Amino acid sequence: MATQDTHAQETHATATDPVCGMQVDPAMAAGTSEYQGTTYSFCSAGCKRQFDKDPQRYLEQPPQQ
Ligand SMILES: [Zn+2]
Repeated sequence: MATQDTHAQETHATATDPVCGMQVDPAMAAGTSEYQGTTYSFCSAGCKRQFDKDPQRYLEQPPQQ
């Protein structure tokens, strides 16, 4: 039985889109940006574009859940 992976609690790493606060799977992200050594993942190209325009704005005021 080599199927132990199927139902193991695989930690599906998610990242938070700093623009809209959505949980984004980095592997499925529409775009990523690196800023000050940290890689951010975005749910859409639009969010990435907003972040790229003014990254500091989104990092200083993380969206409320
Ligand atoms: Zn987004």
